[in-house]
Amino acid sequence: METVFINGSMGEGGGQILRTSLALSCITGKRLHIENIRAARRKPGLARQHLSCVQAACEICAGQSEGAALGSQVLDFKPGPVRNGDFSFDIGSAGSASLVIQTVLPALFMTEKPSTITVTGGTHNPWAPPFDFLSETFLPAIACAGFAAECRLVKHGFFPAGGGEISFTIQPWRQDPSQTIDICEPPEEPEVHARIYTARLPAHIAHRQEKLLCQSGLSIKNFEHIDVMDSDGPGNCIMLRLCARDRTTIFTAFGAKGRPSEKVVDEVARLARSFISSGATVDRFSADQLLIYMAISNSRLGGEKPAPAKAGGAYITNDLSPHLTTNIETIKKFLPVNFDIDKQGQIHRISCAPA
Ligand code: AMP
Repeated sequence: METVFINGSMGEGGGQILRTSLALSCITGKRLHIENIRAARRKPGLARQHLSCVQAACEICAGQSEGAALGSQVLDFKPGPVRNGDFSFDIGSAGSASLVIQTVLPALFMTEKPSTITVTGGTHNPWAPPFDFLSETFLPAIACAGFAAECRLVKHGFFPAGGGEISFTIQPWRQDPSQTIDICEPPEEPEVHARIYTARLPAHIAHRQEKLLCQSGLSIKNFEHIDVMDSDGPGNCIMLRLCARDRTTIFTAFGAKGRPSEKVVDEVARLARSFISSGATVDRFSADQLLIYMAISNSRLGGEKPAPAKAGGAYITNDLSPHLTTNIETIKKFLPVNFDIDKQGQIHRISCAPA
């Protein structure tokens, strides 16, 4: 069995290197040896959320791991054949449920039959895709390349209390070379919709945030306030949903104790403004999350299927984040693909092709 050696301190040096490596180890059947896990984070090594990612990867393919312990910076992972099923994972903390999904979703698309996954943990966490982003931005983007999944929010879980639940139904990938992630058409001017979440917090917080959003210079078409009643703990985030005809892009900023609403509004408004004014087609978060799907659609997986006759895939982003460039390097360790980064003024066209 071929082993892929990954240095977890390369580039961005975070958890995504581990998640992408686990996902591609499951898909390719290549053994993974990763060292310096999350070396660039304040508390390096496996946190509870990353441990859940390893356990989830083991479960979907009856894989074996060594070094799967809290704080561990070295992991050996030996995958078995990926099987469909009804899976349920409990992170046991406010660790992001979305990031556990990010680990197993690519491999579960590769099975012959549908799967379901339920994950308990955080559904709205800083530094991770909030549920709304998965549902409205990410899944529609991969659906255009034949990756069909539906998701449902069972219960909200805000950081730091967690206790939320999301569930996914995943259909086997129908490989069709004419369907690729090709998101390069300049978007029409989007309508901006604001969504403010509060949980166990006084109503005046959302009112003030709405007022501040009105002064942000963005033309916001409507405001939605969701006051979450069944949350295990307090929570607040502001989403700006940029809705164009066939695409919705969601930016999120999180409130926290002692963090003024001015800062939260400023953060989310800046993200939205710079995206809209750039003419990019894909936001900085989708930009790193779509790469693995572009790569899969361009690869001879396990050497069995022929490379697609016409594949490809490209998008234009306004932010060449370290997550993006590091994820490219990680993917290339497993799959024979090339990514091209073409700088066009302030934006970058990222494309993928078989190597
Ligand atoms: P890491 O920091 O390596 O654990 O990776 C974090 C992942 O979460 C990356 O895939 C980011 O694109 C994603 N992410 C972080 N913040 C957001 C956000 N506000 N919206 C969507 N995705 C996010």
